Amino acid sequence: MLTLNNHGIYESSLLTSIAIRHGYSSKSHGDTRKQAVLDTILKRGGWTPQQFVGAEQVHGNGIAYVDSVMDEVRAVDGLVTGKSGVVLGVKTADCVPLLLADPDSQVVAAVHAGWRGTIAEIAIKAVEAMVAKGAKLHSIRVSIGPHIRACCYSVSADRAAAFTEYFGKNSEVVMKKADSWYLDLGKANVHLLTKIGIQPAYIEMNELCTSCQSDTFYSYRKHKDNGFGEMISFIGV
Ligand SMILES: [Zn+2]
Repeated sequence: MLTLNNHGIYESSLLTSIAIRHGYSSKSHGDTRKQAVLDTILKRGGWTPQQFVGAEQVHGNGIAYVDSVMDEVRAVDGLVTGKSGVVLGVKTADCVPLLLADPDSQVVAAVHAGWRGTIAEIAIKAVEAMVAKGAKLHSIRVSIGPHIRACCYSVSADRAAAFTEYFGKNSEVVMKKADSWYLDLGKANVHLLTKIGIQPAYIEMNELCTSCQSDTFYSYRKHKDNGFGEMISFIGV
């Protein structure tokens, strides 16, 4: 479950229960592509702006391991660290943000999963990268952050067919309503995570939809014609 903390930042009860510092910003904080907005959110999260490492985000499935504070990592959509004092972040407006953490090894990850990254298995690649750095598969927790849900995420017949082929007809990842196709990207990522071996009880979905609740969240689809912004999802140890 996601709940608002005193700073208006959404927190996952699953990650809070293992004392991992993390959060999801909302529209009320402003567009995190602006450095000053990002810095303010990080400070509210208990970090200094200098501790932040972001990803270029190219809608691929590349993951980078971050072992020290550095500038934005080019050409990846997911970041992993086990280094104390580093906070990782991904920016989204409709796409799925995933925050992952293993409390025992203190290895964490932040992932941006749009439809391209999802079907390219970026969630699996992130888990594999965490395990390579000492995380235990059976103790990894995953929080799925606010994203555009199946109620609003209409897609072309071609894209629907590609997801049906990958996830199967009974996966409930693809739905048809009237003459339109809809994708459930959150559920698609749950399928990937359980396929690689994450315990279902350690995957936390939320009920928020960035498009339905576009007063609270930035939605690329809702706001693209009148100035959309991006929200930050961050995690660190
Ligand atoms: Zn919706």
